[in-house]
Amino acid sequence: MSAAIEADVAIVGAGIAGASAAAMLAARCRVVLIEREAQAGYHSTGRSAALWSASLGDANVRALTVGSRPFFDAPPQGFAEHPLLVPRGVLEVAAEDARSALDAKVEACRVLSPGVARLSPAEAADKVPVLRIEGLAGAFWEPEAADMDVAALHQGFLRLARARGAGVLLGAEVLGLARDGGAWRIETPAGDVRAAIVVNAAGAWADELARLAGAAPAGLVPCRRTGLIVPLPPGTAAASWPLFGDIAESFYARPEGGRLMVSPADETPMPPCDVQPDELDVAIAVDRLETATTLRVTRIDRRWAGLRTFAPDRLPVVGFDPVIEGFFWLAGQGGYGIQTAPAMAELAAALLLDDRVPEVLLDLGLEREAVRPGRASVAAN
Ligand SMILES: Cc1cc2nc3c(=O)[nH]c(=O)nc-3n(C[C@H](O)[C@H](O)[C@H](O)COP(=O)(O)OP(=O)(O)OC[C@H]3O[C@@H](n4cnc5c(N)ncnc54)[C@H](O)[C@@H]3O)c2cc1C
Repeated sequence: MSAAIEADVAIVGAGIAGASAAAMLAARCRVVLIEREAQAGYHSTGRSAALWSASLGDANVRALTVGSRPFFDAPPQGFAEHPLLVPRGVLEVAAEDARSALDAKVEACRVLSPGVARLSPAEAADKVPVLRIEGLAGAFWEPEAADMDVAALHQGFLRLARARGAGVLLGAEVLGLARDGGAWRIETPAGDVRAAIVVNAAGAWADELARLAGAAPAGLVPCRRTGLIVPLPPGTAAASWPLFGDIAESFYARPEGGRLMVSPADETPMPPCDVQPDELDVAIAVDRLETATTLRVTRIDRRWAGLRTFAPDRLPVVGFDPVIEGFFWLAGQGGYGIQTAPAMAELAAALLLDDRVPEVLLDLGLEREAVRPGRASVAAN
């Protein structure tokens, strides 16, 4: 039997969570990143809508999103060839019966995003002329929202991790996890790894990995979300449209390379898997787009689905397991795992190595207790 690869920290899962954590941790210790698939980013990371928006989630998620912005705006030298963000904006229309939800969202989001504003229906139509504005109370407007280059971010983190000495094992599903002489022995088809600490960045499979380690699951629920690409009528000048949807989150759409990406904003719970789109969700997306706009969908060029994995309170789970020694959680990123990745990786490194939360995230309003593994809502599962 060949000797096990030795590391201080073994990170399981090379999606955006694992890759970003590997890059941060490798600056200070020996890291191995372990991924089941032959290609890192095959699951949720490669299937997102690629939008940075500080209006998603609660105050903790907004703190992690805003805390990630400086990295996106000024990544380390040589990290990516092009800017990671391109301005886009988010516009969410509100029907009369959603007037109070609109007011509440504008007020809550202004705290960290000073540009957030309430627009009249006519102002909304100025930004997206195909919107039907009859019966609207107004719209939520977030000018700071931006398109993310997810592939460049992910590859940049993987490159940085390798440059800092991290090993990356692909095609290496973790099949066994056992404590052995004060460290973990991690079994994979690509060889065994021995590490003091295991980081659980297994995305939709994070509860399965926890069970393998003998830890209690966090009650994580993978939920399917669908995306499709449809053509726009010839001559439509859509490049400058923001991402648009409704405040009730029943659909959203955004221009993408001369066409439109549309999602029915579905959230169907399911076991972790290589998820595929359901035709009913595709039809719902088309129907909601056609109801909210004057557009008619003549063809669907592409469809896909991915999993967004939520803890019961919809907050990430970050930190050491309260019971199992050396088992660190980096899971439950839901629908915000890309835009929060830089801050989540810094948070993970600070908790893992120094048992502290970075000052900048505390200042933005992040509460350590809110994301702690073993907190009440997570422990109840
Ligand atoms: C349609 C859609 C739209 C989205 N839009 C956005 C958006 O606009 N903005 C945003 O920020 N987020 C968005 N998200 C959410 C975002 O994609 C996720 O939060 C993020 O990708 C999660 O990253 P991850 O690394 O945790 O998971 P993944 O990318 O799924 O990575 C986990 C990895 O762990 C590996 N793994 C699992 N078990 C094992 C094992 N036993 N051994 C080895 N490896 C294992 C898997 O193979 C996988 O590669 C969207 C998601 C979807 C589906």
